[in-house]
Amino acid sequence: MSTPRKRVLITGAAGFLGSHLCDRFIAEGCHVIGMDNLITGDLKNIEHLMKLEHFEFYHHDVSKFVFVPGELDYILHFASPASPIDYLKIPIQTLKVSSLGTHNLLGLARVKKARILVASTSEVYGDPTVHPQTEDYWGNVNPIGPRGVYDEAKRFMEAMTMAYHTYHGLETRIVRIFNTYGPRMRLNDGRVLPAFIGQALRGEDLTIFGDGSQTRSFCFVDDLVEGIYRLLMSDYTGPVNVGNPQEITIGDFAEEIIKLTGTSQKVVYHPLPQDDPKQRQPDITLARQLLGWEPKVDRAEGLRRTYDYFKSLTRDELYKKDHRQFDKK
Ligand code: UDP
Repeated sequence: MSTPRKRVLITGAAGFLGSHLCDRFIAEGCHVIGMDNLITGDLKNIEHLMKLEHFEFYHHDVSKFVFVPGELDYILHFASPASPIDYLKIPIQTLKVSSLGTHNLLGLARVKKARILVASTSEVYGDPTVHPQTEDYWGNVNPIGPRGVYDEAKRFMEAMTMAYHTYHGLETRIVRIFNTYGPRMRLNDGRVLPAFIGQALRGEDLTIFGDGSQTRSFCFVDDLVEGIYRLLMSDYTGPVNVGNPQEITIGDFAEEIIKLTGTSQKVVYHPLPQDDPKQRQPDITLARQLLGWEPKVDRAEGLRRTYDYFKSLTRDELYKKDHRQFDKK
């Protein structure tokens, strides 16, 4: 007798990471239930899955009570705005999805006896005073700054998840995701890579915030998905960094994008946003030891694949401004 198909709920399914996770779990032969309220996600990212027998989509906001019929083996909670400009536009929803939303999904996991993996973030380290960041570093977060709505909600998410593990014995996993890039990022989401590539494609100057000396470490999405898959299948319940330790300054990153795109535009400097972390690099010793995982795609290759995706967008998509109106709740 063949083993029954695993049933997986993925929240944030129409988003950048969520949609890639849906692809992965479909490829693993699972029945995937995607859920998204489509505030920052886009159905275009999962259009290709809609016709599949083993994919279902629920248009739902997980900060409200979540109901899914039937059994569930795994839940992956990836619903959340993920870009600093989104936190400013929808701060309350950003707080709610990782607090109330996490609580609802932990409750669902209990009822279904499912294993749950939650998407935490390098932002729990804030503007870090330890470099590179190891999982035992507790972070340096400004709770009331503009990024606090995301950072603190994710910290609460970790605390709540751990409490469900220790108090209820729930099977939980926590991944701390560092800057990730790849096809299906939203061009106007304000993050540095879509911002630079969009500017190059439209023939605009590249906007560096601050003097460009701040660093980030960019991981290609396929590598991230592999790390997440391995973590879910492991038996480790503490938080695990998953990211690419190859660190670069934003100034050098702009130069790489200029070379990649062949744009003749220059860089222009804008003020650094409040609480913008000065440096960020994952220490992935734990992921290497526990999961036998490390990134395989170097930045040159990952950027080429991402640029191919952005080049395939229509002119309308390229020039589309973010005019969405949000409820104040
Ligand atoms: N950044 C920039 N120009 C832009 C957008 C972002 O210089 O047009 C900088 C931003 O200030 C930060 C870094 O790029 O230092 C990464 O920003 P992003 O919003 O992608 O993610 P973060 O890692 O800050 O959450």
